[in-house]
Amino acid sequence: MKDECGICGRVMRTTYMRQCQRCKKMFCRDCMTPDVATGDPMSMLCLHCARRIVSPRTVSKYAGLESHLKFRAAFTDLVTLKFARIDGLIGSNLPMAAYRDPLWWSNTSSSAHAKAWLDAGWEVQEVNLKEGTVTFKKVRTLPRKPKKKSLEITQPFTPVPVRPLRSSKKPSNTRVSKLYARIKNLERQRNMRQPIRGMKGKSQ
Ligand SMILES: [Zn+2]
Ligand SMILES: [Zn+2]
Repeated sequence: MKDECGICGRVMRTTYMRQCQRCKKMFCRDCMTPDVATGDPMSMLCLHCARRIVSPRTVSKYAGLESHLKFRAAFTDLVTLKFARIDGLIGSNLPMAAYRDPLWWSNTSSSAHAKAWLDAGWEVQEVNLKEGTVTFKKVRTLPRKPKKKSLEITQPFTPVPVRPLRSSKKPSNTRVSKLYARIKNLERQRNMRQPIRGMKGKSQ
C-alpha cells in the first residue's frame, strides 16, 4: 500500500505514514510533529495543523460587522443595513450567495458570517434580497467589558521573581522556529520544482 503525503507530495509506503490528529489526513512522518499539547508521542499533527495551532487565524472576515453590531447595541435593538454598507464594514465583498440565497442569512453559528452577528448578540430578523437589505434584531445584551484598571500605583514596587532558564516545560521557541523553517523549506522546494520541470519540457 502506497499513498501520497499531503504536504511534501512524496509517494511512499503507508507504513511510513501517519494520520494527523486534527485534519485526519495522511502524511509522511517527516511532515509531522508530535502534538506537544497532549505529550503523547503517538499523537501526531501535520505541519499545516501545527502551524494553525501555533498561530491561529483569529480575525474573521466578518469581524467588522460584529463590532459594528456590538457598537449599535448600546443605542438600539433593530438595525437595518444595506448589503453595500456591510461590504464597507467588512472591507470586502459579500459573496454572491448573500445576494441570491436567503438561506445564507440563516442564524446558524456553523457559518463564519452568522457567527459574527450571533457572537455580537444579534440575529437576522428579515432579509430583503430585492432591496439588498438585512434587518438584525438584538437578542441578548453582552456583558460589559470590565473597565481597564487604572495605572495608579498603590503598592510599592516588587521585582518579578526571575525564573531559572531551564525549568520551562513549554514548547521551546527553538522548536517552533524549527517547524517554521521546515515549512518554509518545503514551500521553497515546491515553488522551485515547477519552473524547473517547465524548462526541461522546453529544451527536450
Ligand atoms: Zn511529507
Ligand atoms: Zn493536519
